[in-house]
Amino acid sequence: MITELLKVRTHSNTEFNEITDIVSLFLKNNKIDTGLCHIYIPHTTCGITINENADPDVKRDMLMELGKIVPLSDGYRHIEGNSAAHIKASLMGFNIIVPVVDGKPALGTWQGIYLCEFDGPRNRTVRVSI
Ligand code: ZN
Repeated sequence: MITELLKVRTHSNTEFNEITDIVSLFLKNNKIDTGLCHIYIPHTTCGITINENADPDVKRDMLMELGKIVPLSDGYRHIEGNSAAHIKASLMGFNIIVPVVDGKPALGTWQGIYLCEFDGPRNRTVRVSI
């Protein structure tokens, strides 16, 4: 198994930060042609998902609706004050598996891989394994 921690800088409190390019670079640098790429988020207030990367309004709409499902304050008890971020991260999940074909993530035409930040801006890491 090849595994690496990749660095991602987020720039907002909440954002979908596309990481498709850094995953592709990891595959290229390690000369991976075919396989399964496991992408894992070792954090509790950001998650990962795959979704559309053509229309930026998709990211906006997803963040808006997640904000309605999980309000910033709602009588949470967590002393750190970021319960909404923990809940949204769990809703997104902490890992995905993407097939690798011809040295690239075999994503659909309109798909991108997103780190979902809910408590930024921060320096984040993403563990990518083959
Ligand atoms: Zn917390």
